[in-house]
Amino acid sequence: MQLRPEVVALAAYRQGRPARPGGFKLSSNENPYPPIPAVVAAIAASSVNRYPEQAATALRARLADRLGVDADRIQVGAGSVALLHALTSAAMGQGDEIVYAWRSFEHYPVLAAVAGARAVEVPVDADGRHDLAAMAAAVTPATRVVIVCSPNNPTGTTVGTDEFAAFMAAVPPHVLVLLDEAYAEFVTDADAVRGAEQLGRYPNLVLLRTFSKAFGLAGLRVGYAAGPEYVLDASRAAAVPLSVTEPAQRAALAALDHEPELSARVDALVVQRDRLATGLRHLGLDVPEAQGNFVWLGTGPATGRAADAFDAAGVAVRAFPPDGIRVSVGEPESVDAVLRIAAGFVGNL
Ligand code: PMP
Repeated sequence: MQLRPEVVALAAYRQGRPARPGGFKLSSNENPYPPIPAVVAAIAASSVNRYPEQAATALRARLADRLGVDADRIQVGAGSVALLHALTSAAMGQGDEIVYAWRSFEHYPVLAAVAGARAVEVPVDADGRHDLAAMAAAVTPATRVVIVCSPNNPTGTTVGTDEFAAFMAAVPPHVLVLLDEAYAEFVTDADAVRGAEQLGRYPNLVLLRTFSKAFGLAGLRVGYAAGPEYVLDASRAAAVPLSVTEPAQRAALAALDHEPELSARVDALVVQRDRLATGLRHLGLDVPEAQGNFVWLGTGPATGRAADAFDAAGVAVRAFPPDGIRVSVGEPESVDAVLRIAAGFVGNL
């Protein structure tokens, strides 16, 4: 059987490791809080013997209202990762180029390989930030898509509003720019770009958001894209049909109905994130700006040893040897555990 070698060469999607009993799972940037009762009720009220409504009319109308755009400028998907696939399938194919920062979300290289496109990876700077000038300079006549990830997974850094404007001015308007804001709700830096404010300013900008993180619905798979209608129409044509289930649509609406309650949880996680980042820096570890629900430890060549220490203590984290370790922000007790483990290994790195 002949398969596409570039696809065969891809490692299967690496999921965060589970925690050991009594440990903590800090490997997938999940929300540690269980679903609120209204979300559980919304799931229970779903008619799962029927197919879901393909257009997700109520959810799209609600999201459009929040963003102040027409509902045709919203696409929902089975998580923002599904939307990344649909949008890149619509925009690029064999021989085209996609530009993104590296290190960034591990799934971006997969998008390139599946489409048969060439991945142009532009290194993040020493602080883990996107080098937007270099990314704009990497655009060639073959470039179809550029992805900007803010906050960047796994380094945690954001893109500034002014640098984003300069970047958009430098990128030709026929190149699709995807602003991946999976962690937008955790951002506290006033200078960080806010995709919702940028919509409508650029004919080539699509932003991506998700209910997986701040809204705590990772297991239901629902996210959305906002951008020009004709781009989303092509993306809808390329998407897997009926993949946003009725429980997912209903739960997302219920979560939006209870946003203050969920925002209070986000605020609590932000407090823990800042405590974790500050505590790790006090230990002398290299921790860049952390604006998502995770922190990045720049452990470099010592990444394997540091990862072993977390492993031995039953705390699942995500190691990216030889660069560093990403630790998700969970319950306050998990932050205590991470600080304790790091204090134990920091002298031996
Ligand atoms: N973008 C980024 C930057 C992510 O980190 C993730 C999840 N890890 C996603 C997109 C996809 O999230 P989901 O499909 O759950 O919406």
